[in-house]
Parts: sequence; structure tokens; C-alpha cells
Amino acid sequence: MDFEEFLSEGVPLGPMTSLRVGGPARYFADVSTVDELRAGVHWARTKGMPLFVLGGGSNVVIADEGFAGLVLRNSIKGVKFDAGGDVATIDAGAGEDWDSLVEMTVEHGWAGFECLSGIPGRVGATPVQNVGAYGQETSETLLSVEAFDLNTGETVQMDRAECEFGYRTSRFKTRDKNRFVITSVRYGLRINGDPAIKYAELERHLKEKNIASPSLSQTRNAVIEIRRNKSMVIDVSDPDSQSAGSFFVNPVLSSEQFSEARERASHQGVIVSAMPGYPQRDGNIKVPAAWLIERAGIPRGFVLGNAGTSSRHALAIINRGSANARDLIELMELIRNRVREVFGVTLVPEPVFVGFEKQ
Ligand code: NAP
Repeated sequence: MDFEEFLSEGVPLGPMTSLRVGGPARYFADVSTVDELRAGVHWARTKGMPLFVLGGGSNVVIADEGFAGLVLRNSIKGVKFDAGGDVATIDAGAGEDWDSLVEMTVEHGWAGFECLSGIPGRVGATPVQNVGAYGQETSETLLSVEAFDLNTGETVQMDRAECEFGYRTSRFKTRDKNRFVITSVRYGLRINGDPAIKYAELERHLKEKNIASPSLSQTRNAVIEIRRNKSMVIDVSDPDSQSAGSFFVNPVLSSEQFSEARERASHQGVIVSAMPGYPQRDGNIKVPAAWLIERAGIPRGFVLGNAGTSSRHALAIINRGSANARDLIELMELIRNRVREVFGVTLVPEPVFVGFEKQ
């Protein structure tokens, strides 16, 4: 294969991302098979070129200078399923649109993805951060992944345990960060299964609609409505949705850190009696990052030049129209500093930052 036939030069990356900021890729190629991916990796290696693999672009911040290497967009497609007995086994290419897959499974009456409706991005991203929302997460239905190992050039299979899932994390985000490119994912869904109604906000929403025993599609619709009300569904007519979704991970604190955070903030006059904390199985406490941000003095709809927080959710940093990456980073730092000053908690950004390292 002559990989150079797939290459384009100086391709703007901003339009391929939901934040719509950032400069061009020096070289860019859309790869739709594992062989094309392999050829692209080989090409970059031969030229001594940095490599970045892009998916749906809904969780990345591209530097204003762009990326001085090769960007491969993972567009490996294909959905196969085998629905026999109680379980539908689905093999989906990493480049498939996630929400279209969710929609298809809900239409078939297969349970397991319904609460993950309305999430932007592609299938390949779901194992990386164990994408989850409204009471469901990827690791509950994922059976295995197929991945291209950049170290060896081999394709490998990993079962669920080997992915080392945790809260919004996996080995692909930790010890093997940047080592594997996910090429396809196998999931197992429950045929004619009931929807998972575990999240208080979802339960409340369905109750308000007088839906006592929701179907999978009613659950999907409810989740999309909740997300839309928070501008967490990408929509060109909604300026608050020009974001990378949640910009920070909800911090998980030890009980000592939780008490310290409360104490520190109350000394500064912040009313923390209702500081939410959700105990985890391991004894740690998960705290909504949005609550910390608002109490640290950055409200929803906060404006800093061309960047801001969404008027519907303080956790989303938005491009107000003509922001560049620098504007977003400035606001990110302001938020992190304020939360650190008030609570002593360092928020960890969720998106992947591309082109910021010295090249
Ligand atoms: P939210 O509903 O304001 O909740 C904020 C935090 O509180 C989350 O960590 C959530 O846990 C936790 N929480 C809320 N109610 C809870 C309960 N009854 N029991 C235990 N924990 C509870 O969150 P949001 O920012 O609007 O996000 C909505 C959903 O989307 C959340 O499930 C969030 O995790 C998810 N989300 C996922 C990603 C991702 O996968 N990368 C990105 C953005 C948002 P959980 O996080 O465990 O749900």
C-alpha cells in the first residue's frame, strides 16, 4: 500500500473537534482499515514523525499551533451482531459513531447502552475512559477489545479484566497510555432486558413524565432530554454545546481529603454544609466537580474573553464563538486555581491535549 496516497498536508483540525479550536495537522489521513492504520504508523515511524490518533474529536483540545506530525483519524467502520439466546453480541469498529450504535441497540430491544444515549464521539473512545453516564458504564457490557499495539505493530485482543477499568479510566489512560489504538470493541447486551434506572436524576425525570415502567426507548429519550437541558448534546443551534462536555473529572477524595476540603472552604466563608459527596465502595468519596467550581466563585455562564462556562453546566468550558485554544487554557487554569485555593482540590482535566508538548 502506498500510504502517501492517503495523506493530506496542513489540514485544519479545529473543525474535526467539538470545541472547534486549534491549528492544522502537518500531515493528516483518515484510516478505515487496520492495514491503513498500520501503514500510517509505519510511515510516521520511518519519517521520525510524532503521531496522534484522533477519534470523534469530542474530548480533545488542539493547540493553536496545531500538530507538527501525522494525525490519523480512526474511521474503522463495521457493525456485526449475533443475537441468540439472552445476549446480543456486537462487534463495532472503533470509528463508528457511538450514539448511532446506541440508537440501533435500543431499537432492537437490547439493554445495556440506553443510559449512554446522546454522548458524542466514536466507539473506540468508550473503553479508554470507561465512558459512563446516568448509572451505566462501558465496562458493564464490554466483553473484549481489539487493539493495535504501537510498540509491537501487532493486533491484540483483551478481555474486560485486561482493560483494567476504573471510574472513567482504564489501562489505556494509565499505564498503557498512548500504546494501543483501539480498532474494534465487542459488547454483550441483554436481549429484551429492562432499562437501568439507577440514577436519581433519571428517575426523577421519568416520574415527572408519569412514566412508571419505561421502555428502553423512553429511557433513551429521557437521557437525551436531560443531557440537552444541560447543553450536553452537540447542537449547532446551542452555543453552550460548543464544548468538550465535562472539562474536569469528578474528583474522588479520601474521607480525610473530603473533610479537609470542607473545612478549608468553610474557613473562607464558603457554605459547605450541603457539600455533596457520594461514597464509593472503596470508602472514598466522589464529589461533583461542577459544585466545587460554582462554590469557588465561577458560576455557570462565566465569561473570560472568548471562552466561558456553559450557562447550563459549570463543568463545561465553551468556545463562545471565536475562542482559540489559549483562551480555553486560560479559563481552565483560572478554574483549577480557584478550586485549589478554596478547597485544596486539584481538578484533573478530562480532554486530551494535542500539540501542546514541545515538538
Ligand atoms: P451530575 O449528575 O451533576 O453528577 C455529578 C457527580 O455526582 C457525578 O460524579 C455523579 O456520579 C455523582 N452522582 C450524582 N448523583 C449520584 C448518586 N445518586 N449516587 C452516586 N453518585 C452520584 O453529573 P453531570 O456532570 O451532569 O454528568 C451526568 C452524567 O454524565 C454523570 O453520570 C457523569 O459521570 C456522566 N459523564 C461522563 C463522562 C465520561 O464518561 N467521560 C463525561 C461527562 C459526564 P457518576 O459520575 O458516577 O455518574
